[in-house]
Amino acid sequence: MTQTRRTFLASSTWLGAGLLAGASTAKAAVSLNPSGKEGVLKFSCQEGIIPGKTLAEKLDKMEEWGFVGIEPGGGGLHKRVNEFQEALKGRNIQVSAICAGFRGVPVSEFADRRKEAMESMKQILDAAGQLGSTGLIFVPAFNSQSQAGLVAARFMLLDFLHEIADHAQKAGTRMLLEPLNRHETWYVRQLSDAAKICQEVNHPAICMMGDFYHMGIEEVCEYSAFLSARQYLHHVHLASRPSRKQPGYDANDDFRPGFRALKEIGYQDYCSFECGIEGKPEVEIPKMMAYLKQQWAEA
Ligand code: MG
Repeated sequence: MTQTRRTFLASSTWLGAGLLAGASTAKAAVSLNPSGKEGVLKFSCQEGIIPGKTLAEKLDKMEEWGFVGIEPGGGGLHKRVNEFQEALKGRNIQVSAICAGFRGVPVSEFADRRKEAMESMKQILDAAGQLGSTGLIFVPAFNSQSQAGLVAARFMLLDFLHEIADHAQKAGTRMLLEPLNRHETWYVRQLSDAAKICQEVNHPAICMMGDFYHMGIEEVCEYSAFLSARQYLHHVHLASRPSRKQPGYDANDDFRPGFRALKEIGYQDYCSFECGIEGKPEVEIPKMMAYLKQQWAEA
C-alpha cells in the first residue's frame, strides 16, 4: 500500500500523541523526591576513626565537631548495647548504621557458611534495633569468600534476604546492601545492581547504601548512580578518591555530582566517614567536615 502525504501526517499525529502521552506517564512515574523534603548532610563517623580512649571521650569530640551519628562495628555489638545507651544519653548523637561484623558468608557455596551468617546477622540486628540504628551494612561475599558464580549467587542472595527481612523489620531496623569495588568483590559492585536486588525482594527492611570510594572505581556517573538507588538508599560512606583518606586529601576529587543527587532525592539519612586519616585527627577531621560542607553547598 502506498502511503500518501495526508495519511502519513495523520499517522504521525497519532504517533506524536502517543509519544506525548508516554512522556507524561513516564514523568508522573519517575518522581525523584516523592517526600518533597530537602536533602540534608548529616555527618556520622565510624567509631574507630575518632581519637579517644573511651566511647565517652570519642563522643565528646564528635559533639564538639558537629557529628550527629556514630557507626559502630557489628562484632560483639550485642554485648555493648548498654554501653552505647548510657554513653549516648543526653547527647545530640545517635547510632547511624552498624558496619558488618557478622560471621559466615551470605553468598557461599557452603550451606553452613550461609547459616552462620544468618544466625550472626540476626543477633546483630536485634542489638541494632535496640540502639535505633538505621541498618546493618553487609556485603554478600568478598572475593576470597565465595566461588558461587553469578547465577547461583543471585538465587542465594534473594533467598537469604527473603528469610532475614522480617527479622530485621521486627527488630526495628534494616539490612543495608553495600556494593564494593572489583578488587574486593566480584558480586554487586554498582548501586543500580543493588537497587534492582532490593526491588526484587520488595520488602521495606531490605535496603542499600553507597560508598563514594567504591563508586569512584565502579560507577560511570555518581549522580545517576545515586538517582537509580534513591528508593532504597539509607546510608552513605565518605572517603577521598583514590587514596581512601579524609575527604579533601586528593586534589582532583569531587563530591558535588553525588551530593547534587542526594539533594535532589531529598536524602535524609547519614553520610558516614569510612577512611584513613593522614595527619593529626584533631586537625584533619574538622577540616574534612568543613570541606564537605562547602562541596554540599556548591552541589
Ligand atoms: Mg564502605
